Amino acid sequence: MAPESTTPIGSGLESRLIDAHGRRISYLRLSITDRCNFRCVYCMAEDMSFLPGTQLLTLAEMVTVSEAFVRMGVRKIRLTGGEPLVHLELLGLVAQLAAMPGLDEIALTTNAALLARLAKPLKQAGLDRINISLDSLQAERFKSLTRTGRLQDVLDGIDAAQDAGFVRIKLNCVVLRGRNDDEVLDLVEFARSRDLDISFIEEMPLGLIDEHDRASTFVPSAELLAKIDQRYPLVPTTETSGGPARYYRMADSATRIGVISPQSHNFCNQCNRMRVTANGQLMPCLGNTEAVDLRALLRQHPGSVDALLQGIAQAARIKPEQHHFRLDAPPQIVRFMSMTGG
Ligand code: SAM
Ligand code: SF4
Repeated sequence: MAPESTTPIGSGLESRLIDAHGRRISYLRLSITDRCNFRCVYCMAEDMSFLPGTQLLTLAEMVTVSEAFVRMGVRKIRLTGGEPLVHLELLGLVAQLAAMPGLDEIALTTNAALLARLAKPLKQAGLDRINISLDSLQAERFKSLTRTGRLQDVLDGIDAAQDAGFVRIKLNCVVLRGRNDDEVLDLVEFARSRDLDISFIEEMPLGLIDEHDRASTFVPSAELLAKIDQRYPLVPTTETSGGPARYYRMADSATRIGVISPQSHNFCNQCNRMRVTANGQLMPCLGNTEAVDLRALLRQHPGSVDALLQGIAQAARIKPEQHHFRLDAPPQIVRFMSMTGG
């Protein structure tokens, strides 16, 4: 059943979401679960406790939240997590979003471990785009970085996604010194050979981990770009995928190389997004703690888009100008990336 709304057109809350710093919000990242079948060393602790199911948004609540954001001008929704493919109702959610007027693009970020069997049904349900996380092409190393993952499952998932008709799939790779920084050229070569785009991400200090010291494993994007440029001269582009990545092209390939540099190259002035966590907390900024409790609004006013519009407008008012990530101090943000979904 479509969520009800009584907000009159022209009430001022619809079709535009502009924050206090003049940034237009058009992109929602919806974390549909905090659970995951991997335990990546930069993202999670080895022993994780997850939220009780009653605290997570239901499928109907996620649809109502999405509807509210679309009514306020959001045109792209990315489903993330945790690992979105472990959510049993993912296909139903994608199908409902695909039928939502005004939403131009539904994207997914996944570790791809379950993609071999889900790629085709996801395409049929109406998913537009896929980003796949891949930090190593060496099976042993992949295992040690993800703690539980099998590289072959991910490679099979990439094959299945391409067979299902997904194009311009993007790989995401978090680079850690001494762990996988020597594989950057191999990963670029893999992306070129498979006609994939690839983005290299600087690790963010989210959540308390003791597996490695983030300050000593930090690799600035500029270092990677210099290494890649020596083998494949890079041409900067002004292209954007509506995110924080800066893109480069190579003369002899369709592959785009992106870098996401939250530490070395602040991109907050272009931020066009908000995030909703799996338990319905609307986070206007990944690098700060401000939140609006959409779940409380949803449970006080079940199915009401209107109640959410006020909460979303409030989040736009409190969205900070920028994040303040620091590697030389304990993390100020103790929630893990798996809560907010990358
Ligand atoms: N499980 C899915 C996946 O791994 O693609 C989606 C959720 S994951 C949190 C989204 C992205 O965040 C992944 O590309 C992951 O590599 C990245 N990520 C997780 N923790 C990070 C951190 N501390 N710093 C930078 N990127 C991180
Ligand atoms: Fe899971 Fe993704 Fe976090 Fe890895 S990065 S632990 S796959 S949520």
